[in-house]
Amino acid sequence: MTVWADLVGQDRVVEVLRRAVAGDAHAMTHAWLVTGPPGSGRSNAARAFAAALQCERGGCGDCSACRTSLSGAHPDVTLVRTEQLSIGVDEVRELVRRAAMSPTLGRYQVLVVEDADRVTERGADALLKSIEEPAARTVWLLCAPTPDDVVVTIRSRCRRIELATPSTAAVAELLVRRDGATPELAEYAARVAQGHIGRARMLARNEAVRARRSELLTLPGRLISLGECLTAAADLVDSAAQEAAATTVELDAREKAELSEALGFGTKGARPRRAQAALRELDEQQKARAKRLQRDALDRVLTELTTYYRDVLLVQSGVAAELINTELRTEIDRIAGRDTPEATLRRIDAILACREALEGNVAPLLAMESLLVTIAGRR
Ligand SMILES: [Zn+2]
Repeated sequence: MTVWADLVGQDRVVEVLRRAVAGDAHAMTHAWLVTGPPGSGRSNAARAFAAALQCERGGCGDCSACRTSLSGAHPDVTLVRTEQLSIGVDEVRELVRRAAMSPTLGRYQVLVVEDADRVTERGADALLKSIEEPAARTVWLLCAPTPDDVVVTIRSRCRRIELATPSTAAVAELLVRRDGATPELAEYAARVAQGHIGRARMLARNEAVRARRSELLTLPGRLISLGECLTAAADLVDSAAQEAAATTVELDAREKAELSEALGFGTKGARPRRAQAALRELDEQQKARAKRLQRDALDRVLTELTTYYRDVLLVQSGVAAELINTELRTEIDRIAGRDTPEATLRRIDAILACREALEGNVAPLLAMESLLVTIAGRR
């Protein structure tokens, strides 16, 4: 199985990268920007490319160069992924230093920045010089949701690779092949995840995630009273907070332990004031991260609700297209008959408004309450 095997639905991109790896002088360059919608596999594509560049056989997937590149253990492949909100200038300078070095045993010095959109302005300045005057065998692979997420000075010097949203069939095939999902489960997960590979995998693997989704999509059919709306909103916000906490609790503790050790808290004596400040700063960063993850979880709720109303609207407009939520056909038919298309559009607008409110830092509970009140048709 070659390193390209898991890049589902990206045949065109794979073709471009293969040509680059094959050593075609026009096809290869030293800075790449990999973009694509969330879940399309940006970091997978970048890692596969890194592995193929190091492999003697162009990405066999089998040799130690391939395996260590993919896992992040290859000495000449640096994978930068961050849980932090930004990648600062110090971190970038460290990368730039590394980029200036010759590869130790690989064919290239490859630097993969998975969240290039989080590089700060000063970080981008530091990066620019290395991208303008690269070392002979250095390759930068930057990943971001869209080209606009990376400052123009950087993106104009990169060759662009744009990933497409993979088809349901392609994602389902991957879930069966790589994760051992049954074909039925894989089809369901791929269909409702709408081409988001990570989301599809979560749904295929985790029964609790499937149950949460099913429960969520009962809301449009059963919310009536104001009290029900407020309770449901509080439940959604709570469960998003729990989801965020489950992701970060270990990471938070590890970061705190590492920082304490670096500050010498194991030794006797009073804690210096600067150390206290550093701990406070970490605390604030961790809180900001928990908040962001909670918002991400609520954003997924909004995405799921959108698939529901998209289906309702489809039935209402009599278009003979396939539903996303085929298992809810009866319920969707009922809602479609109950409401007008205008009412459905109003609800879709409310979902978009809720997303904007969350991005604009409106309190999550307030935003969700307002949304559910609209969904229940109470205004
Ligand atoms: Zn190989």
